Amino acid sequence: MADGEEPAKKRQRIEEQPEKMAVDVSSSSDWDGRWSHVQKFLERSGPFTHPDFEPSEETLQFLLETCKILVIGAGGLGCELLKNLALSGFRDIHVVDMDTIDVSNLNRQFLFRPKDVGRPKAEVAADFINSRVPGCHAVPHFKKIQDFDESFYRQFHIIVCGLDSIIARRWMNGMLLSLLIYEDGVLDPSSIIPLIDGGTEGFKGNLRVILPGMTACIDCTLELYPPQINFPMCTIASMPRLPEHCIEYVRILQWPKEKPFGDDVALDGDNPEHIQWVFQKSLERAAEFNITGITYRLTQGVVKRIIPAVASTNAVIAAACATEVFKIATSAYIPLNNYLVFNDVDGLYTYTFEAERKENCSACSQVPQKLQFPPSAKLQEVLEYLTENASLQMKSPAITATLEGKNKTLYLQTVASIEERTRPNLCKTLKELGLADGQELAVADVTTPQTVLFKLNFTS
Ligand SMILES: [Zn+2]
Repeated sequence: MADGEEPAKKRQRIEEQPEKMAVDVSSSSDWDGRWSHVQKFLERSGPFTHPDFEPSEETLQFLLETCKILVIGAGGLGCELLKNLALSGFRDIHVVDMDTIDVSNLNRQFLFRPKDVGRPKAEVAADFINSRVPGCHAVPHFKKIQDFDESFYRQFHIIVCGLDSIIARRWMNGMLLSLLIYEDGVLDPSSIIPLIDGGTEGFKGNLRVILPGMTACIDCTLELYPPQINFPMCTIASMPRLPEHCIEYVRILQWPKEKPFGDDVALDGDNPEHIQWVFQKSLERAAEFNITGITYRLTQGVVKRIIPAVASTNAVIAAACATEVFKIATSAYIPLNNYLVFNDVDGLYTYTFEAERKENCSACSQVPQKLQFPPSAKLQEVLEYLTENASLQMKSPAITATLEGKNKTLYLQTVASIEERTRPNLCKTLKELGLADGQELAVADVTTPQTVLFKLNFTS
């Protein structure tokens, strides 16, 4: 980006030497040598290029004029991604984010300024990129990913996610799987939209390259996402070593016992008086065990389960994601295969491995999912299985079945009136509900845009 030359001079020089321009000279935003850093990768061969790579000037033209990228999330990773992609020559970039800017974002989400607080992240980020990178056309969408349908997602060559939510990731994964076209069971490769997924948590990060229908999808490796980090109770109760252990002790054991704000008052992470109480008690506990490091901020972080975002982790992961987008868009280099972990909690560690497809993955396998229960099992047990099974981890599954030719909702949690009407079904057995062996159950959930079909297998 550093280029001190005045635009007028630049244009003059471009006009004088048109034959040296590899890119369209009619566009005033492309000055001589603007893309020379990218051209070095695309217009000559080298020891690390893809075996099938043939240097050409057309690849840069494709990046500049044709390639259409979707960035999901305009937060810590999203700001980095937009900057990296725009400076690498991608010009047709859409960005989706449903959030508005909070003052606490400003330390790392560098496309935002104090005056932007309260405005939609996607819009401010796109405006910034468009004004800073001439010729770039970033299109913002201040919306949820669920607000768009297949036709929207299908228009992109590559989708890159910088999300902090596993549910949103799984939904995106499900959407791209739903775009796949199979003919006689054979996947049509032109229906594949590669998904680059970055994630960070404090000093840890990961990146994966997913070719939907071909390589491991998000749900194939769902077991890798730990449900929630909890400290062992014995550590909290009797052998605390970390300030967090002391705060957890107060939160889990002391608060319910001492009921400092009355019998039915639950600990509220947004109530300063509550946090102050926990903070003071945690200090006392820490003093007993010679533990230091308890602060009000840490107390609130532990109670609200906030993991601090680290700007440099975002920068590393976003840089790797943007590199993968470049590699796939240009076919010039071999993409990551397919999962990278990064950790600089203690020293610096990084490792790449190939996550494998799960044969019966509920999202990408096309294998009917089995539910094995005795006829005497209650619907509640099926619901618990769907939410607690490590490879399903659904959030609020809605279960429907076809009974006597009619589509019947057995349980639906997300609409209060239907929840109330279907709640009695939870205590009924599968037999009482009229379900038969081999019956199909359709399950809808926030983790996927598609209904998942299960086949009920009665066990005895
Ligand atoms: Zn899968």
